[in-house]
Formats: sequence, C-alpha cells, structure tokens
Amino acid sequence: MSQERINVTRSSMPGYEEYCEEIKDLWESRWLSNAGAKHKIFEAQLQEYLGVPYLTLFANGHVGLEVAIDAFDLKGEVITTPYTHCSTTHSIVRNGLTPVFCDVNDRDFTIDADQIEKYITDKTCAIVATHVYGGVCDVKAIEAIAKKHDLKVIYDAAHAFGVTVDGKGIASYGDASMFSCHATKVFHTIEGGITAFADKEILDKTNKLINFGFVSHEEVKYISTNARMNEYEAAMGICNLRHIDAEIARRKVAYDRYVERLGNVPGIKLIAPQKGVKHNYSYFPVFFDGYKYDRNQVQALLEQENIFARKYFYPLTNELECYKEAYGASVANTPVAKKAAECVLTLPMYADLTVEDVDRICDVILK
Ligand SMILES: *Cc1c(COP(=O)(O)O)cnc(C)c1O
Repeated sequence: MSQERINVTRSSMPGYEEYCEEIKDLWESRWLSNAGAKHKIFEAQLQEYLGVPYLTLFANGHVGLEVAIDAFDLKGEVITTPYTHCSTTHSIVRNGLTPVFCDVNDRDFTIDADQIEKYITDKTCAIVATHVYGGVCDVKAIEAIAKKHDLKVIYDAAHAFGVTVDGKGIASYGDASMFSCHATKVFHTIEGGITAFADKEILDKTNKLINFGFVSHEEVKYISTNARMNEYEAAMGICNLRHIDAEIARRKVAYDRYVERLGNVPGIKLIAPQKGVKHNYSYFPVFFDGYKYDRNQVQALLEQENIFARKYFYPLTNELECYKEAYGASVANTPVAKKAAECVLTLPMYADLTVEDVDRICDVILK
C-alpha cells in the first residue's frame, strides 16, 4: 500500500520533555499512587475546567461508572439505551440492577426522552444515559422526568469531556457523570476516568469505594474494589489539560472539512449541531442510508486505501451474546438504535488529522 496508514484515532501527547518534567518529583517523593500531590493538583484543575465542585479520579472510565452507580445503593430497574459501549450496560448489571432498554432518538442517537416514561415501573430507580459522540442527551427533559418520579440520573459522559450546555459544564446535569480518560478519547490520562457528582455525601462515599471501602486505616466499611488513578496518569492529565482547548480547536478544523465534503450528499446523513451545546469534536459519525455503498462496503473501500474507520456503536448491547438471552426481547423496542448500528461508521478523527487527510478519506467515500 502506497499511502500512509490512517487509524480511526490517534492519542494526543504532550511534549516528551514536558511530561518528564512533570513526573520528575515522583522520583524524589516516592509517592506513586493513593491521592498523591499530582492527584490533588489535577483534581483541582479539573473542578475548574469542568465547572463542577465534586469529582473523583479513577483507574479507568468503566470503574468510574460502575463504582459511581454502587455509591447510590440502588435496587431494581435502570432505564438505559443499547446504543452505547458495553461498559454502560455492564456497569448496571454488575451492580445487580436490571437494564431496561429504551430506544434512542434519530437526531443525535441519545436516549429518546419522550419514551422514558413508558418504561417507568415501581421498580425503576435510575436512568443511566449516554452522551453520544460529543453531543448530549436532552438533559433538561431527563431532569424533569427524574424529579417527577424520584429517580437518580447517571450519565456515561465518556465522549463528552469539555462539552458545555448553555455555558455550563455537561457534568453539572444529573446526579453523576463519568468521563473516560482512555488513551483514545479527546482528553486522556493514558488510562483513567473522572466521575463528577452533584452530592458531597456520594462523593465522600465514592472516595472510600475506590480504595477497597477503607474508612480509616483499620476499618473497612464497604465491600469494594481498587479503582484508584496513579500519579503517572494524573501527571499525564496535568500535561494534557494544558493543551486540551488547542486540541479541540484542531479537531474542529478536521470536523468542519468533513461536513463541507459530506454534508450535502444524498444517502449520507450527519448529525446536526445541537442548540446551546459546545461540542468537543470527539468523533465523526456518518450514517450510510440509501447511499451507493452500504456501511460495510465503505469500510472495506477505506481499508483498501489503508484508512481505518470503526463501526461504533455496533453491535447494540442488547444484541450481545451475554445480554441477548436475558434481555433479548427488547431489541424489538429499539428500532432506531438498531438502524443506527447498521448504518454508522465513525471516520478517523483526532487533533493531528489534517485537512489533506480528510480529503483523502472523503475522496474514497465519494468516488
Ligand atoms: C470509552 C468508553 C467507556 C469506557 O471507558 P474506559 O476508560 O475505556 O474504561 C464507557 N462508555 C463509553 C460510551 C465509552 O466510549
């Protein structure tokens, strides 16, 4: 293959010297994990950047969600969607809760707020919804429903770092929001996660849950896990946070070029911008519906040219072998999600992606 390989994503890195400088004092202090100096600095910077007072750092995004759900001590049914990472559904089920799959809307592929109430029973305890691709759920409608029925609202905000709604950080909505800081996400700490909470008591409990449930040196109150972020990851976060706004701005250039090239092509559907939402350009999803090539054909054509796109989200979590048996009936209830999973391809998207790269990708799709 003549042309250089383009992957679906590429991790942003701070300068090598910048990172080395940031971790230098760890050789002196020998404090490598368990809420060390980097951890505290990073936490304070994130409170400021995300515009939320209460947050906890985690070893990864998944445990950030699973442990956060645990902190609410929920029982019964949770309304969620299948158009998400399996992590969302796993974190519900691994807490002994039953997922009830609601469909997504066909505008932004987040939970269809108009359908939530029909799934509410006397067993419903929470809504666990996913912000998708850097766009957001209808947070105000969800808040109103949750208030009316006394439900917790927990967001999988893995895609939504830096996103704001009406000028407010996305984590100011709901009872908790988890951001993934995996190497492939807009903002990363190599591996890592951040969960923001509305309630100080839940925050305090979560800070025990991430450390085996210890409440003092000799007392363990909760049967929990180890979900701590280490100091090298926090240091990477401190470095990457210095550059995040510039990185998002560079992503926007690539994003805008994609829209320019693919925005008015019959059979190719893009997601329209949401009102009042500052996006983070984390993904570039394209839906092939009635185009001359179907989604799988486009993916194959791109691969022939050394370009790697991803079917994301696919398959739906209610179609996974491990969930089908127990909850399979609900796939019939989620036709919009099913259609999206069949048509979607997320195209390469990262800060280093040039306009020339985007043109190379679009030329293949449009040829
Ligand atoms: C990446 C991702 C996760 C998992 O995050 P990790 O940091 O990889 O554990 C969960 N949900 C969604 C929607 C994701 O994209």
